[in-house]
Amino acid sequence: MRRNRRVKLIATLGPASSPPEMMERLFLAGVDVFRINMSHSSHELARQLMFDVRSVSRKYGCPIGVLADLQGPKFRLGTFAGERVDVPEGSVFHFDRNESAGSSSRVFLPHPQIFDGVEPGHTLLLDDGKIRMRVVEARDDRISAEVLVGGKLASRKGISLPDTLLRISPLTEKDHADLGCALELGADWIALSFVQRGDDVEEARKLITNGAAIMVKIEKPSAIDDLDAIIAAADGFMVARGDLGVELPVERVPGLQKRITQAARAAGKPVVVATQMLESMITAPVPTRAEVSDVATAVFDGADAVMLSAESAVGEYPVEAIQMMDRIAIQVENDPSYATLVHATAILPQPTSHDAIAAAAHAIADTVKLAAIVCFTATGSTALRVARERPGLPVIGLTPVHATAQRLALVWGIHSILTSDPDKLSDMVRKACRLAFENGFVRPGEGILITAGVPLGSPGTTNMIRIAYVDENGDAVGGG
Ligand code: PGA
Ligand code: MN
Repeated sequence: MRRNRRVKLIATLGPASSPPEMMERLFLAGVDVFRINMSHSSHELARQLMFDVRSVSRKYGCPIGVLADLQGPKFRLGTFAGERVDVPEGSVFHFDRNESAGSSSRVFLPHPQIFDGVEPGHTLLLDDGKIRMRVVEARDDRISAEVLVGGKLASRKGISLPDTLLRISPLTEKDHADLGCALELGADWIALSFVQRGDDVEEARKLITNGAAIMVKIEKPSAIDDLDAIIAAADGFMVARGDLGVELPVERVPGLQKRITQAARAAGKPVVVATQMLESMITAPVPTRAEVSDVATAVFDGADAVMLSAESAVGEYPVEAIQMMDRIAIQVENDPSYATLVHATAILPQPTSHDAIAAAAHAIADTVKLAAIVCFTATGSTALRVARERPGLPVIGLTPVHATAQRLALVWGIHSILTSDPDKLSDMVRKACRLAFENGFVRPGEGILITAGVPLGSPGTTNMIRIAYVDENGDAVGGG
């Protein structure tokens, strides 16, 4: 399935998109990666979803990525006596360790870590930020806060603490169980929610023993403070604008989106822009102009992928929403200003042979006007470094490893094809030419650039660049 764009599309699975025939339609409309939201999926459902995604992938002979998204430490209040209580502005509200039903002046807070971390002056946000309080007193057994913005509060609503560094692992008990399930099912990417520090990633990495990649959702102010360490520790990132815009003033989100995108691109690790991208398409077949512009901005910034959440999980128009993203992406990538904007910040090679090969491949392909860059890749790292350059021609990843192809489905510009490792150099050239030709990336008379590691089949050794031309039958000129 050849896509006519470089940016990748992610759709969150939910009731609107889970039936197998709907999944297939979404894939045909442009989905490269499906997200399973473990907050809303039982293990049984996750198993079924995984089975169905892999079936579509097999049917079309095309790798599809699966991102399993762990809920993370999402804090909730205890319960109230009535349906809901009114918490008026200017009053003082208490959070305590008393399990009895709450009132308009107090509620049970079932998270001991919060009592340990919170300090006077910290902000408390309730119900996605609708109610705002400032802590005036923090005791071991009671937190008292002044209500700055009041409203109605119901049982088990969420509480966020943007200023508080909490001494907790980003993996809750539920996350441990969900992670076990996701790994067993062979998810390609694991997303961690509410990560606060680079160390959180290291901790999670110890549990991920099967090579699944780690995506950190940037949605906490503390994660922004430790961004360099997080970028160094994880394999990919999500600008999780929903919670980020609750924990920080929403007007800070666009600037942070740019900063995170640039930092991830400089590191050569994929970055996803997520949440409310086509929000109005949950209930309407066409988006607002502002939403179209938002998707376009992420594409102009060179993000690896853009994501649908509720639009595809519970919306009325999941297929239309993916088609819309696809059309926006194609339009933007063909815009005269795209090349300038996507290369607005120089992404310089690091002093490694991988980067030397990637930069040289890009320069040669531009100078000689080749049709595609073909990377033989076992771990995916060469293809990643080539994609980091954001070259203006297709990047094809040839790999015998299913997991690699599926992981790369999320990465800007990489079209992965599964194929066995060639055993001779001439075989390698023939194979690259033939696959690029059969998949429509090169026409007779055109050339491709090939990168590989010699001796062939040894991972992590990319050290070779080769130019080859394709004859009228799709074979390598001169036999390779
Ligand atoms: P969520 O993450 O959909 O799991 O909350 C994305 C976000 O916060 O934007
Ligand atoms: Mn979130």
